[in-house]
Amino acid sequence: TRTLHALIDAGLARSPDAIAIRTGDGGTVTARALGVRARGFASALAAAGVQPGDRVAVRVEKSVDAIALFLGTLRAGAVFLPLNTAYTPAELGPLLADAAPRIFVTDPAAVDQCRAAIPEGTALRTLGTRGEGDLAAAADAAIAGGVAAPAPELGPDDPAAMLYTSGTTGRPKGALLSHDNLRSNVETLCTAWGMTSSDVLLHALPLFHAHGLFVAAGTILAAGGSMILLPRFDAETVRARLPESTVFMGVPTFYARLLDLPGFGAADCLKLRLATAGSAPLGPDLFRRFEAATGHAILERYGATEMSIVVSNPLDGERRPGSIGYPLPGIEARIAGAGDMPLPAGETGELQIRGPAVFRGYWHRPEATAEAFTADGFFRTGDLARADADGRLSIVGRSKDLIITGGYNVYPREVEILLDDMEGVGESAVIGLPHADFGEAVTAVVEPAQGAPRPDEARILPALRAALAAYKCPKRVLVVDRLPRNTMGKIEKARLRSEHAGLYT
Ligand code: ATP
Repeated sequence: TRTLHALIDAGLARSPDAIAIRTGDGGTVTARALGVRARGFASALAAAGVQPGDRVAVRVEKSVDAIALFLGTLRAGAVFLPLNTAYTPAELGPLLADAAPRIFVTDPAAVDQCRAAIPEGTALRTLGTRGEGDLAAAADAAIAGGVAAPAPELGPDDPAAMLYTSGTTGRPKGALLSHDNLRSNVETLCTAWGMTSSDVLLHALPLFHAHGLFVAAGTILAAGGSMILLPRFDAETVRARLPESTVFMGVPTFYARLLDLPGFGAADCLKLRLATAGSAPLGPDLFRRFEAATGHAILERYGATEMSIVVSNPLDGERRPGSIGYPLPGIEARIAGAGDMPLPAGETGELQIRGPAVFRGYWHRPEATAEAFTADGFFRTGDLARADADGRLSIVGRSKDLIITGGYNVYPREVEILLDDMEGVGESAVIGLPHADFGEAVTAVVEPAQGAPRPDEARILPALRAALAAYKCPKRVLVVDRLPRNTMGKIEKARLRSEHAGLYT
């Protein structure tokens, strides 16, 4: 099997009459019907003039048709380009101009809002009006007419998807992922996490990000299992559907929000066999609280848009809080220092990754692509990490979040872990702010824990001073109602840095 859709087809063929997707509002689709729908969309795309290699930009809410459109795009040999539904026209415009998709697909309700962002040469299509220009209607017609789906000859290196990085570090870049990148990663994850056709995955992640699209939807479909597709994460709704689910995948905030629900615990996880977390660091305190409440040790894993999932805690074996585990089969991971030279165990350096899951490059950005790789072909993740003597990896932070204060390096994560463990602290972000004497001053921004007394700077600072070398200690602890987060639940440190830039000046 060389293409991602062939791998998923094989999964759908495992039990064709079983329900592949259940939606939050009670809709169902069997594996066979999903396959038929995917082929219908492949035909509809071909009829709309989409050729192999064309980008198909898709900005839609979650639905069965959204998934069928993804599978149909792959089958048509086109490149699936999912876009964040929260993007405004001003954010969408530059991305569409850069990607130059053949068509742009959006929900009927979003058409007016998106129109201004669509470049010349890109055709606008809807998903679900059943009127003119509607891809769902075109798929219906192709299915009813028995139109054969296109079946272009595709090789492992042909692009399957393009995802824009969130752009925390600059202009967003389109990461091109090949069929082989995605197929190999989905296969590896199915084995590593023991995914089978009896699994029921509770899907509350967005479909426009690698986590929800490839890691969650991709693995469960390839395994021939079924998923409960929720429109978004809502703690009460997730709680209501969790007892019938065997697998749950989330960002760390999902777990924190579930624990905020009164009485949440083992009774909510009746059939659960696996709960995974990634996309952002899982605090050891959150790991322990979830385990104490439910008996489940969250399996933390690590990846990025450019390489899917490359490091994971074991399914069988110790899942250690604060560690992302071991490189997955076929993945080479190293901790590199100056000149990309590997560092010995225990030392902190950049995590660099090589293997079949690693992308080939950024769309139309040869310089950025060249910078992203070492001379010997490792991807520079920009994450700082350290390895134990037995190869177990831990993320220490992102290199761009490293604080340099008075000439000393401070890794924010080390301070955040202490803070997260303190009474009354829900979550924390440690950042460097401009300071006349120190260059950057270590500063903590803290979100209160739900239902606990509000944390107090005057109590936190002495506790930190007792636990940390003076240069690592925050100069100030700011208590805010809510930390700013992006749609993946990642704390937006760049925004915090600009909001508080004047604190010491
Ligand atoms: P951009 O690349 O535009 O700045 P981004 O890095 O947020 O955006 P993603 O590809 O979604 O884009 O995120 C990948 C990053 O997420 C990793 O480089 C890492 O910093 C972080 N990450 C993912 N999983 C974990 C984890 N388990 N622990 C710590 N960090 C993680």
